[in-house]
Amino acid sequence: MDKGLIFDIERFSTKDGPGIRTVVFFKGCNMSCYWCHNPEGIRGVPELRFEPDKCAGCGICFKICPMRAHKIDGERHIIDENRCTLCFACANACTYGSLTQVGKWMSVDEIYIEIEEDRAFYERSGGGVTLSGGEAMKQSDFAAKLLKRCHEGLVHTAMETNLSFPWADYKKLLPHTDLIMGDIKHMDDAAHRKGTGAGNITVLDNVKRLAEAGIPLIIRTPVIPGYNNDVANIRSTAEFLKDIPTLKYYELLSYNPLGNSKGILIKNPYKLPDIQVPEKAGMERLADAAMEYGIEVYIDGRKRTGSR
Ligand code: SF4
Ligand code: SF4
Repeated sequence: MDKGLIFDIERFSTKDGPGIRTVVFFKGCNMSCYWCHNPEGIRGVPELRFEPDKCAGCGICFKICPMRAHKIDGERHIIDENRCTLCFACANACTYGSLTQVGKWMSVDEIYIEIEEDRAFYERSGGGVTLSGGEAMKQSDFAAKLLKRCHEGLVHTAMETNLSFPWADYKKLLPHTDLIMGDIKHMDDAAHRKGTGAGNITVLDNVKRLAEAGIPLIIRTPVIPGYNNDVANIRSTAEFLKDIPTLKYYELLSYNPLGNSKGILIKNPYKLPDIQVPEKAGMERLADAAMEYGIEVYIDGRKRTGSR
């Protein structure tokens, strides 16, 4: 594959690995986590995003659409999914940013030009590039080429992954990956499957294999109230991680409700349930339980130093 499907390149991130980073978001994911905060990354095809709040009512999209998919329903501007062929003529014509194409096929060179622009910031901060998504491993051949290009340019590389792909796929990337940030979403296989659509046996196996390969690891759990926020599950995760020699730290990430608003902007809205954001005290209780296993624990990017 000469090009990868990318839905965003975010510069100056301080949340996706060490230092200041450029984050490349790969479109397409093999899991279907019901709490996903990046719903535009789920489908492995370009999509049309419509943000009604930005619409100035200029009417250009109505005129330009060859399928007459833009309609007025009462007083609402809607897009008829059954007619839209995703030609993106309307997105290209909308000068107000109300209609946009989510997901573009890009070459390694096209992406690397953007990465190279912030070299000075990587060098000063100890940062680099992070592949994210969606799930970068769904396009593992392209991801491997991009990571290799970064290493040739002496740029530090990291990848965020759900850890659920065959070991042979990870092996392709390892020579050019300096850090892996992987998720363990639940320690119970059935619960993992229920929440994400996939079991956790491969996930746990990959953590062990990555450690054996000497890859530094940050393991994260997105804390979803009513799903995995019980102390027993976090204890079980920490007990597993205490024997992982390359673990840098374990991070608990509070559920991010952003997906609820982003989901409705896409042509096929994702149905997201109403989940409460976890309380700070609850997150700290979980972190303290994990720390009892002698591992370093972070909450949302901050090192937990303990309650005492
Ligand atoms: S082109 Fe953009 S601003 Fe104009 S009516 Fe369509 S969505 Fe609204
Ligand atoms: S992307 Fe869909 S709505 Fe927009 S111009 Fe093409 S067919 Fe019409």
